[in-house]
Amino acid sequence: MKRLYFGSNLKMYKNVHDTVCYLKELEALTMDLDRERVELFIMPSFTALAEAKKNVQRIQIGAQNMCWADRGQFTGEISPCMLEELGVGLVMVGHSERRHVFGETDEEVNQKVLAGLRHGMQVLLCVGETADDKKYGISADVLRKQLLVGLHGVSGQDARSIGVAYEPVWSIGVDGIPASPDYAEEMHRVIKDCLKDIFGEASGSIPVLYGGSVNSGNARQLIARESIDGLFVGRAAWQAGQFNRLIRDAVEAKIPG
Ligand code: PEP
Repeated sequence: MKRLYFGSNLKMYKNVHDTVCYLKELEALTMDLDRERVELFIMPSFTALAEAKKNVQRIQIGAQNMCWADRGQFTGEISPCMLEELGVGLVMVGHSERRHVFGETDEEVNQKVLAGLRHGMQVLLCVGETADDKKYGISADVLRKQLLVGLHGVSGQDARSIGVAYEPVWSIGVDGIPASPDYAEEMHRVIKDCLKDIFGEASGSIPVLYGGSVNSGNARQLIARESIDGLFVGRAAWQAGQFNRLIRDAVEAKIPG
């Protein structure tokens, strides 16, 4: 049976107290969901990671970013060793805001992917084209480049620890326009074909999640598509009750009954 993935990046919106309240409520609401069928993860701010880890058992806690180096002259950065110390086993790399606000390159993203794997973490690699890429018809090329460079040097064995979030830049945030289910499915196919070129059959274990203005009105149609293995949700996930309803709706759409 296909496993579904639901996650949220809390960005820079919740302090420690708010994160813990949110997680406790979400965990209580989703307690009955079969974790063989549904995996749930939340990415709080760095400052809330330790308390988040202490307060939930059935929700995976991930970091929103990290440095590629274990230690050194990297003022303001967080090392994979520091995340390891907190027991954080999941890290997101290459989020659109890291790439486009903080100027991260595919090469840096690749170093972070490799660092996460070296530390035995699961790595969620975010990829997505800009509105201009889409306008000029190069979305598939951009996605392939982000994947080929981002996953350079990753072994077939390590493919088991990789997840991909497809988040078109034009679809994210308050001004975002959600991708249509047809368009998202088309890009997920591009991603899955590229992962197959890289890892062969081992690519079958890599979930590909859609993210970008997912809400209660479009979650069902998106998740129903064959190549969409999960939803990576921002704003519509930041209230536990709303996220719980979205997850249940989506699970029902993908796995009727
Ligand atoms: C995001 O920022 O990764 C995201 C998916 O946000 P939203 O759902 O709010 O567009």
